[in-house]
Amino acid sequence: MATTKKTQQVNAPIDARETFVSLRKNFAESEQAVQEKLKTLFNLQATDNDIDRLMQLRGELPKEVEVLEQEVESLNAKKERALQLIEGYKQSIEAAGESIKQVDEDIEQYRKQLENVSNSREYDSINKELENQGYVRAIAEKNIGEAQEAIKARGVDIEKIEDRLTIRVADLEAKKEELNTIVESTAEEETTLMAKREAYLAKLDERTISAYDRIRKSAQNHLAVVTLFPKNEDGTYGSACGGCYHTITPQRLIDIASSKKLVICEHCGRIIVSPEI
Ligand SMILES: [Zn+2]
Repeated sequence: MATTKKTQQVNAPIDARETFVSLRKNFAESEQAVQEKLKTLFNLQATDNDIDRLMQLRGELPKEVEVLEQEVESLNAKKERALQLIEGYKQSIEAAGESIKQVDEDIEQYRKQLENVSNSREYDSINKELENQGYVRAIAEKNIGEAQEAIKARGVDIEKIEDRLTIRVADLEAKKEELNTIVESTAEEETTLMAKREAYLAKLDERTISAYDRIRKSAQNHLAVVTLFPKNEDGTYGSACGGCYHTITPQRLIDIASSKKLVICEHCGRIIVSPEI
C-alpha cells in the first residue's frame, strides 16, 4: 500500500553561522519567487556597496574620534581621582590639626598641674604624660607635612593631566568637525540609501538576511552577491565568479543565466546572479 508523504515546513531557528549553502533547498517556493529574491539580493548588495563607498569617505576619522574620546574620558577620570585624593589629604590635615589643638590643651593642663605637685612620684607621672603628648603632637605634625607634600605632588599630576587634556580635547574637536563635514555632505545620500536598504530587507526572510550578512562580513570585499567576471568591452560577461574569479562550470552558467535557481560559488560560497538580472 502506498503512503503519501507529507512534507512539513520546519521553522528552524536562525543559525548565525549559516551561509547560503544550507538555504539552497528552501530558498523559495517557486521559480518566479527565486528570480524575485535574487533580484532583491542583487539590489541589496548594490545598495550596500554604495553605503560602503560613503563610509569609506570617512576613512579613519570615526575610529580616530573614538580613540580620542576614550583618551579624554580616561584623562578626566584620572584628574577626578587625583582631586579625590587631595580632598582626602585635606581631611586628614584637618583631623591632625584638631588633634594638635587637643594635645596643646592637655599639655597646658599638665603644666598647670606641675606647678602644684605634692610629691616626686606625681611629678614623674605628669612629666611622663607631657612626654607622651609631645610624641602625639610630633606624629600629627609629621602627618600634616606628608599630606601637604602629597597634595603638592597630586597638584603637579593634575597640571600635567590638564595640559594633555587641552591638547587632546582640541584634537578631538578638530577630528569631529572634519568628520561632521563629511557626514553632512553625504547625509542626504545616506538617508536615501538606508531607506532603499530597508525596503530590500523587508522583502527578504530572516534566514536569507542572516546568511547574506555573514558572508558579507567574512568576505574581504564585503560582497555576498556577485555576478560574472570579467565584464567584456562588448558588454558580454566571462565565465568566472565575480567574487573569487574561479571558473564556473557550463551547467552552473546555464543555471545562473536562467535566474531560476540559487547558484552558489563552490569556491567562495557567494551567490552568483546573472548580469541580466
Ligand atoms: Zn566565487
